[in-house]
Amino acid sequence: MRLPRSVRDADVAGKTVLVRADLNVPLEDGRVADDTRIRASLPTLELLLGRGATAVRVCSHLGRPKTEEDRAKYRMQPVAARLRELVPDERIHVLENTRFDPGETSNDERFAHELAEGCDLYVNDAFGSAHRAHASTEAVAHLLPAYAGLLLLDELEHLGRLLGEIERPFVLISGGAKVEDKLGVLRNLGGRADTVLIGGKMAEELRGENPLDFDVELPVDVVAAAEFERDAESRLCAVDEIPDGWLGLDIGPETRTRFARQLQSARTIFWNGPMGVFEWPPFAEGTKAVAEAVAANDAAFSVVGGADSVRALNELGLAERVSWVSTGGGASLELLEGKELPGVAAIPSA
Ligand code: ADP
Ligand code: MG
Repeated sequence: MRLPRSVRDADVAGKTVLVRADLNVPLEDGRVADDTRIRASLPTLELLLGRGATAVRVCSHLGRPKTEEDRAKYRMQPVAARLRELVPDERIHVLENTRFDPGETSNDERFAHELAEGCDLYVNDAFGSAHRAHASTEAVAHLLPAYAGLLLLDELEHLGRLLGEIERPFVLISGGAKVEDKLGVLRNLGGRADTVLIGGKMAEELRGENPLDFDVELPVDVVAAAEFERDAESRLCAVDEIPDGWLGLDIGPETRTRFARQLQSARTIFWNGPMGVFEWPPFAEGTKAVAEAVAANDAAFSVVGGADSVRALNELGLAERVSWVSTGGGASLELLEGKELPGVAAIPSA
């Protein structure tokens, strides 16, 4: 995979640097509810400050502002306040939400010029937005000398390993609800995997008709529920014994054992998509079993992607135990589908 040139190789002393970070954090009552993404952007910002940049202008989108009311809700002020607490350096300036300008999503040259105005260098560290050709991720990269930030590079290097030479067995495990989004990755990576394990709603969809040109291992038993409710009547059953009209909302114990055994002997693992409706305790055990099996395998290079899968892993306190937790969402999926990300393509090679 082609790697863009690194901010480590940029001469930033005395320069004003425009950084596109991914500061799209969840807000609650006008405050930052989870600052993971802000923290993830710190290494690049600290590198720039440490190397003597005169000013660091940080821009990001926040939420999906559409109406005037949204504009009040998605101002960058709380994010800037949190960032200032973490890095109290006067040289950092947080620009207003890039999506307040309609030119952002249309990749507009005029808005890109506005962002670039007065800056000497551009650093893109927003991996989570790199699959979108927007003014702050694409157009602006053609107006200033462009470099990749440390987080962006870390994501490319770790995810890229799955696309290159891998140690076998390679076990790919997929689940969740967004089946359409995941089929591209399954097609591209699944053929390279030695074993493809499928849970979640994904399993129910593939059971009918498998549109893939390789075999997948589907659940043999499920936790079935009479309806899609937290406290629905539920029971364990073999897949061919699911009562009419009931839904499989988690993988069953026999499937958990089988999947865990495969994960135990893997040398490369990619997991995307929970095994069940893990938000509801009666249907959380399958996801937990898989998370534990992935975490327990210290010999494997293991990557977990997808917002909900990562949330499940975090809630179980297992994020530190896997090789790489991708924060990318859509960007990770597109990269693993084999697509070139516009925000990466716009940066010259190393
Ligand atoms: P990720 O964010 O990790 O990529 P998805 O967004 O595709 O994963 O799917 C996550 C959602 O899938 C969770 O909210 C979970 O409740 C739901 N889910 C998992 N298994 C099932 C199932 N069998 N039926 C319905 N929903 C499911
Ligand atoms: Mg999701």
